[in-house]
Amino acid sequence: MNSQTTDCCIVGAGPAGAILALLLARQGIAVTLVEAQKDFNRAFRGDTVHAGTMELLAQLGLADALLEIPHSKLHSGKIEGPAFTEPFEVINFAELDSPYPYVTMMPQADVLTYVVGQAQRFPNFTLLLKTSATGLIEDNGVIKGITYRKGKTQGQIHATVTIAADGRASKLRAASGLDYTKLAAPMDILWLSLPRIATETIIAKGLAGRIGDGTIVLIFERPTDWQVGVVVLKGSYREVKKAGLTQFKARLAKMIPEFDATLAGLTEWRQVVPLSIELGRLKTWAKPGLLLIGDAAHTMSPVGGIGINYAIQDAVAAANALYKPLQANTLTYADLQQVQRQRQLSTRIAQRFQAVAQRQIVGRFLADDVIKPPLPARIMQRVPFIRRLLARFISYGAFPVRLAPGLRQVD
Ligand SMILES: Cc1cc2nc3c(=O)[nH]c(=O)nc-3n(C[C@H](O)[C@H](O)[C@H](O)COP(=O)(O)OP(=O)(O)OC[C@H]3O[C@@H](n4cnc5c(N)ncnc54)[C@H](O)[C@@H]3O)c2cc1C
Repeated sequence: MNSQTTDCCIVGAGPAGAILALLLARQGIAVTLVEAQKDFNRAFRGDTVHAGTMELLAQLGLADALLEIPHSKLHSGKIEGPAFTEPFEVINFAELDSPYPYVTMMPQADVLTYVVGQAQRFPNFTLLLKTSATGLIEDNGVIKGITYRKGKTQGQIHATVTIAADGRASKLRAASGLDYTKLAAPMDILWLSLPRIATETIIAKGLAGRIGDGTIVLIFERPTDWQVGVVVLKGSYREVKKAGLTQFKARLAKMIPEFDATLAGLTEWRQVVPLSIELGRLKTWAKPGLLLIGDAAHTMSPVGGIGINYAIQDAVAAANALYKPLQANTLTYADLQQVQRQRQLSTRIAQRFQAVAQRQIVGRFLADDVIKPPLPARIMQRVPFIRRLLARFISYGAFPVRLAPGLRQVD
């Protein structure tokens, strides 16, 4: 069995794990980042980078280089549908007091590839791809690292601290035995990727939303394809499938008539990936030697497109709390607990917001044959102050995290 030793073993190279790995590697800390996939091109999990995250990346000296990657800017969020006489604006980012008053729509794989590429410049950073964490090494109640599998090889990584950033189905969360609560969500999403063709009309830069007939369709414009998300009532995928692909395509064509020709690219159910939406949270984010962050600690739903930001803010809070103790070799359980203390309220408020939006807005759109937008959506449209407040909340969260001054300097 292979055995390695490091200061910090991070499992999961999603937004939380990748940013934390970079922040700690820049401080000279030995970091091993373990990722199950062979690269960063994973299942679609949104392309949204909000103003708050762009500002953090700017403090790290990374924003300008990232903006060289092909992207689009989403200045406002509008929904349209057969039931509405005109597009219905639910959020507007243009008035944010930020150098980035928009949502940067950039493929997550590109962001992760760039961030991990930056970490790879440091000799104290190790990246293990195609490597799955299988469990935790525990000694007298203290987590001392992980066990892993890479192909047919099994191994161990011994670490001063282990960070579980392995997402919503976190294996390390299960292995830790920590108490995790799942919260109900009324919907699922059916994802499909359609190749771009030369003749289709571009319906919106970045993201468009269509509502009607008990369906919500989200269309993300990406450099090489259209990522289409069809929001349906929880558990209804079977019925949709039973009704047949022709009917599914007809439903989509009614919602996005501009895609009449593009939809010819949808020929089999294999192209449609159903994804169960869930919200969930841990009561305690840490054990001696172990810290959970991002979706592993508090699974976010896609509502508001804020999960990536919250994962990155957790990473920054973790780097703020851990880098000095790791450098001085004085890390304690209290240092790990500090991260939950700083982040818990913010993530709970965000989850509460997502739960209410799912029930009051998304759920109602799906359940009824909507003839007009539900009251909370109408209030958002009519009261500019509420729209501004919402844009701020979506972009920064309730209590934005700031990078510790010692982490800011650019190497
Ligand atoms: C369908 C869907 C759409 C979404 N859309 C958006 C959106 O538009 N905007 C937004 O902000 N948020 C969106 N979210 C939420 C967002 O994806 C998450 O909140 C965010 O990705 C969490 O980041 P993370 O780093 O904690 O975990 P993840 O991004 O889930 O990363 C976890 C990583 O761990 C790896 N991993 C898992 N298990 C192991 C293991 N045993 N060993 C090694 N590696 C492992 C995975 O391969 C993955 O790379 C969406 C979520 C869903 C489900």
